[in-house]
Amino acid sequence: MAISPAPRPRPRPGRADALARWLLTLLLVAALLVLAAWAWQQPFMARPRALWELSRMPPPTSLPVPVQGVAPPQIAATFGAPRGSDRRHEGLDIFAARGTPVRSTTRGVVLAIRDRGLGGRQVWVFGPAGERHYYAHLDAWAPALAEGQVIEAGAPLGTVGNTGNARTTPPHLHYGIYGGDGALDPLPRIRAGR
Ligand SMILES: [Zn+2]
Repeated sequence: MAISPAPRPRPRPGRADALARWLLTLLLVAALLVLAAWAWQQPFMARPRALWELSRMPPPTSLPVPVQGVAPPQIAATFGAPRGSDRRHEGLDIFAARGTPVRSTTRGVVLAIRDRGLGGRQVWVFGPAGERHYYAHLDAWAPALAEGQVIEAGAPLGTVGNTGNARTTPPHLHYGIYGGDGALDPLPRIRAGR
């Protein structure tokens, strides 16, 4: 009488399939991570990368004067001065001859280049710690400047003028810094830059 072999434990197909699926998922996730890391370093990601890096930086404790040839002691402390009955001066006025170069005080991303309202010809720059830097009353913009451009500190933004509501005043740069809670006085940091 033949002895039938003891029944072998049958492989459980369910478990093998689950393992294969799990390995495939792991492989896909790894591939996506590699792809994302590669893309993050590509030129088309320069702007998001700069915005990310800038927003993680601390606010600068010192800043250069944004107008060429002007020293900090020449700048009057007019931040917060009343402007009419319902407005306060949300920045500094830095006087210089029309056409004097205006340069970015920080590394940043150009948020806006426009001609409107009180500021006239203006440039907005997204800077370290997410602070927005406002350069207004420009006579002209720097020729190569473009919205979305990543710029280094010292990059030319334009030239001093009296556009916007500065029409009746001598040419000057209105320079403002806006943080999460509104306007900040740039002067202490410009004085610290000496
Ligand atoms: Zn002003």
